[in-house]
Amino acid sequence: MNVKIYGAGVAGTFLYFLLKQAGFDVSICERRRSSPDCRCAWGITYNEAKALYKEIDVNLDEYVLVRPANVIVNGVAFKNKNVVVFDKKRLLEDLWRRMDIEDVKAVKAQQADVLVDATGYERALLPKIENDNLYPTAQTVEEHDADENIYVYAKGATGYAWAFPLGDRRWHVGVGEAEGNFSALLNGLREKYGFKVNNELFCRCDAFVRLLAPSKCRPFVVGNVVGVGESIGCVSGAGEGNAPSLRCAKLFYECLKAGHFEDYERRVLRHFRWIENEHKFVELVQQGKLWRALPLLPRIVAVESKRAVGHSVADVRALLKLILRS
Ligand SMILES: Cc1cc2nc3c(=O)[nH]c(=O)nc-3n(C[C@H](O)[C@H](O)[C@H](O)COP(=O)(O)OP(=O)(O)OC[C@H]3O[C@@H](n4cnc5c(N)ncnc54)[C@H](O)[C@@H]3O)c2cc1C
Repeated sequence: MNVKIYGAGVAGTFLYFLLKQAGFDVSICERRRSSPDCRCAWGITYNEAKALYKEIDVNLDEYVLVRPANVIVNGVAFKNKNVVVFDKKRLLEDLWRRMDIEDVKAVKAQQADVLVDATGYERALLPKIENDNLYPTAQTVEEHDADENIYVYAKGATGYAWAFPLGDRRWHVGVGEAEGNFSALLNGLREKYGFKVNNELFCRCDAFVRLLAPSKCRPFVVGNVVGVGESIGCVSGAGEGNAPSLRCAKLFYECLKAGHFEDYERRVLRHFRWIENEHKFVELVQQGKLWRALPLLPRIVAVESKRAVGHSVADVRALLKLILRS
């Protein structure tokens, strides 16, 4: 069987090496051929990503830039258990060097038995999603002197601004908001934590992130086209898509290898039930239905406590206060 992957981002590159190692006839093509996307999306849940990358002989530790002590949301500190900031661009560059990436314009789609749509929010091969939920984001790389925590500022429930430490005084400063109203959130972040507007800008870019649960991104399979990663909504309610996209690629690989292609959708939906819960929670809060949202919180906290950030009883109380205030 031969497989052609569209998109050499997190999910596509990982899937390429899994398939290659297993002896599949696999090829990959990409829209941007000169270098990988460097959007500030460099936070990753360490344990899961470390184990997954090990399967393709990548040592995540070589790319870890910072292990932030805390995740600070509107001034309230949560102990960071498992989120690291990694050099995603360098990791992808190293993987790109080991692949023969084809130019998407020169590729004929019908040349493969299976076509994988790993094009992230673009979802270039699968049909467009009715009522898709693509959040606009903007981000910069800046220099600041601040303790190396992850800083978040949110007001209302339609987005937030963030600052992620990259080491050597460099920071990813960014914002995502449903309607693209960035300035209030960004100014709030700068004021709250002292990230002054500065001229030491190293780069600036815009992007989208799909905040829609996998169940709403169906179909995952249309004819011989299969979606993997963010193209089918493997992004948490808070916008975490790196480890989920790796995991999704692994689920697809396992189904393909076992010859149980038809299991894929069911396995993705089952595995990412926690993402469904997070989106449901966000949706209810956005609709002002707080009392329907709150019963979902214990499940969300339980999952996030394992995956990312520790929650003591005091933390849960602080989280509740934050939600009620917003
Ligand atoms: C500003 C921002 C910050 C984020 N921060 C985090 C974070 O800190 N932690 C986290 O876990 N997640 C974060 N995310 C989400 C995360 O980046 C994505 O969910 C994740 O990268 C999805 O992986 P993917 O491989 O599915 O898609 P991508 O990584 O988006 O890869 C898709 C690839 O497909 C290529 N492509 C697009 N169209 C075509 C086409 N027509 N043909 C061929 N190739 C194509 C693209 O160039 C790209 O290389 C963030 C997202 C944004 C926008």
